[in-house]
Order: sequence, then C-alpha cells, then structure tokens
Amino acid sequence: MLDASCALKDEMTPHERMGSLMQGKPIDRIPCVPMIGAVAAKLIGVHVNEMLQSPRLTADAQIRSYELFHHDSVSVCIGSHAIATAFGGRMTDPVDDNPAMKVNPIQTEQDLDRLDLADLDKCPAIQVPLEAAKILVDRLGGEVGTGLIVGGPFSVASSLRGTNFLLREIIRNPEFAHRLIEFSLQCSIRAALPFLREGVSPLIVDPVASGSILDRKKAAEFAFAYTRRLIKEFQKYAPAVVLHICGNTRKLLDQMADSGAACLSLDNVVDLEQAKKQVGDRVMLNGNVDPVNVMFLGNKDLIHQAVKTCLAKAWDNPRGYILATGCDLPIKTPVENIAEFVDAARIYGKWPLDPKNFS
Ligand SMILES: [Zn+2]
Repeated sequence: MLDASCALKDEMTPHERMGSLMQGKPIDRIPCVPMIGAVAAKLIGVHVNEMLQSPRLTADAQIRSYELFHHDSVSVCIGSHAIATAFGGRMTDPVDDNPAMKVNPIQTEQDLDRLDLADLDKCPAIQVPLEAAKILVDRLGGEVGTGLIVGGPFSVASSLRGTNFLLREIIRNPEFAHRLIEFSLQCSIRAALPFLREGVSPLIVDPVASGSILDRKKAAEFAFAYTRRLIKEFQKYAPAVVLHICGNTRKLLDQMADSGAACLSLDNVVDLEQAKKQVGDRVMLNGNVDPVNVMFLGNKDLIHQAVKTCLAKAWDNPRGYILATGCDLPIKTPVENIAEFVDAARIYGKWPLDPKNFS
C-alpha cells in the first residue's frame, strides 16, 4: 500500500513554488492540494480515533503523506465540533471515521451566558492538533507550509446549538442567534490564534453556511458578517486566508469573494469556469476534483480526466489557481488514487501551463 507514492519528482519544494508563484516568477508545476485529513491515519497504519487523540500520530500521518506525495500543504484541523467539546459538547468516537456531534452544549438561551471562552485553552481537541502543528512546523517547516483547517463562526454556532435549532433561532429569535454566532466568532479566533502564532496558515471551513442551507440575505447577515471579521483578525498573522464552504455555493460566490479571503476553496458541485468569470479577478481559486466519485470510487483514467477538466477551466484564473480536491478525501480513498492525483498535477500542470496539455 505504501508503495503508492507518486512516480514523478518535482524540481522545487512547495515553499519555493509558492514563493515564486506569489512573486510572478516561473515555477515547475501547478500547486496541488489533495485534502488529506482522516485518510492520513491509514498511511501510518493506525485508526482514525487513535490519530486524533495523539499529537505525535497526527503529525506522523501528515509527515508520511508529504513523504509519499510531496503535495503543497500539510494540515491539522480544529473543526466546529471540536470547538464545541470545550464547553461540554460531546462527539461520537468512531474507530475509523470523523466524529459527529452527539450532544450540543447549548440547550437553552441561558446556557450561552454560562460558557467561558477560556475553556478553549485547555480543550484536548484543540491542544492535540496544536502540538501536532508545532511538530509539523519544526520537521517540515523548511519545505512545506502547515495549514490549520478551522471551523467558521456559523458552523461553530451550529455545533454549539445544533443545526436545526440554530436555523429555528434565526427565524424566531434572531437576537439570540446573533449573540450565539458572535460568541462562535470569538471561539474561532481564540482557538486559532495559538496556531497562527506558530506560523500556520488558516483555511476556514464553514460547511453549514452552504448555499444549500442559507439564502443570500440570511447568509449575509448570519454568516458572512462574521466570517469577514474572522478573516480580518486572521490577516494580522497570515495575509492569505483561504475560505472553504461545502456544497453548492454558486449563489454565494460574490459574498465569499467579498469576505476578504485571498483564495476560495470550492466544492466540486461549483463550476470552476463560472467561478472564474464571476470572481476570478478578485480571488485565487482552489479546487475541485470530486473527492467521492473520482478520488474514492474512481481510477487512474477518471482522475487524470478530472484534473485536466479542472485545469482547462481554471488555469488562466486572473488571480491564480491551485489544483485541489473539492473537499476532504473520504477515509477509504485508495492511496494509489492520491498518488495519481498529484502525478496528474505534474503531467498536465507542468509549467508553463499550456492548454494543449490538458485539452
Ligand atoms: Zn467541504
């Protein structure tokens, strides 16, 4: 299984590549980021729940993934559920899956007043990835950047209160919904700052703020008003903030671009060409090979075709383009498929980009 490392080699390290790209200098290939989260556990032969409880295993799994694929970012994660556990929320503990929320810590309006932000500072679900991030920066910092995937305010509010209840509060008790999302914003900031001080780059994930759940007006008032402030806070440490919202964000693209994010990470249901036309002069685009039907269930041919399609749509995005998967890879994604993905980036995304290579 672990022989499935990529066959092709690079001429530059990810740091050299990203640095030259930002300065408008030539690079060797398109930057490439398969989102390797929980699937990394199997690269070091441990269960996902073991990895998530150990800084050493969390770091080792990311280091192993980098040794195998030499992709352009390693990462750790504090999702919205993890943040909710700081306040008494409880997650499931599946052996080989991402945990789901079991008990939301806020059941009544009064519960919010009892929560203390300082509880985040000793939360194991934040301390483990923080210690892992320090190891990654120490071990790989000379070559590749470490990213922090952090839950955005709307999704944190959803983990604190429960999605259905949050949506109900928005209609019936918008004043409380705002107080809750304001508290969630402060949670995202407080949880992430220790990472950013270590030189880790933020990628905000706000799956619940998807266009499938909120209309434009509600998204502006209850999601983006807070995301903008989060990004502004993060920019004090890291100028290039990435924003990822799962699902269909076609109708939210301009609001995402207005958030201050330097780069939008788009789900595979969003058309990259349409995104390029709509917001490509304002933001870098990142995406969006289908993580399920192509990466998990597909084969070499399907992966190469999907990479070529993404390149054909977004290679000339005015503010730049990073080839990536549309969301986190499923845990059972074959390791060979990740290797095919990064090799396809090297073949079709060879510099200088030429449409003849991916048409
Ligand atoms: Zn996603």
